Amino acid sequence: AALETLQGFLVGLDARMKRAHKRGRVAHYIPQLASVDVHQFGISVCLASGERLSAGDAATPFSIQSISKVFSLAIALGRHGDRLWKRVGKEPSNYTFNSVIELEQEGGKPRNPFVNAGALVTTDAMLDAPDAGGGLDRLMDFVRTAAGDDRISIDEQVAASEYRTAYRNFSLAYFLRSCGNLHMECERLLQIYCRQCAITMNCEQLASAGRFLAGFDSAAHLLNPAQARSINALMLLAGHYDGSGDFAYSVGFPGKSGVGGGILAVVPGHASIAVWSPGLNAFGNSLLGTRALQELSEFTGWSVF
Ligand code: GLN
Repeated sequence: AALETLQGFLVGLDARMKRAHKRGRVAHYIPQLASVDVHQFGISVCLASGERLSAGDAATPFSIQSISKVFSLAIALGRHGDRLWKRVGKEPSNYTFNSVIELEQEGGKPRNPFVNAGALVTTDAMLDAPDAGGGLDRLMDFVRTAAGDDRISIDEQVAASEYRTAYRNFSLAYFLRSCGNLHMECERLLQIYCRQCAITMNCEQLASAGRFLAGFDSAAHLLNPAQARSINALMLLAGHYDGSGDFAYSVGFPGKSGVGGGILAVVPGHASIAVWSPGLNAFGNSLLGTRALQELSEFTGWSVF
């Protein structure tokens, strides 16, 4: 009965989000993302019991973008443990996700692994010995295993379109490299980073892929539980950049957004949730995705507070 109530809520939520007037703006700085239809909305929830509930455009693929930073962090943390924190901080950021000024202020040590500078370091750390298939074999294995779906792939057109216009990320990478905080050459790293961001998933696949963070027994082989908890803490503090406080206040559980309009949210012990709507708010986070998670949190009482 509880499942049916939740399913009914999700269907109603989808209808409300589809009708919403104010939807935000799709990301324009990545050419391939600028043409995505802003009227879409989807949500998928994986529960500890193994059930999955979905509504709306939950089977429509989208570009996960910065949500990929959660998976690269999981691999880098699994490889290096706490040594990783010598190269990247675990503090919230007061600046936008691709800020240059903050990196210089911090002497080349990014505030956290979710701002772009931090993600570049994390990807570099994940890859110390880049393997053959473009460097991302290990990440793709991880994501596919976590989701239980071998079909997950990279949209090479999105990757190429971002790489061609990645001026800001190049400037961050060159600065990091000048500080000795990158091992790879910037061009190679940026190619890999853009491909990692161009992983395409739908809400159902993404919700499944997030289960290893929710502390479900079935996923414990992917990352040790203490490290999964650390990632949740960072998602709460920094997963929505300088909008993280707002997200924590209104939603009340960890989440990681991407400029494709997706959000992966984790309710420890209860659920892994993926929501997607391409229109973004002023912080570059999905406007309706955030609103939907707030309503879901109020309905279920899932706030960790
Ligand atoms: N690929 C994007 C970038 O580096 C990811 C940013 C995001 O999703 N917030 O700019």
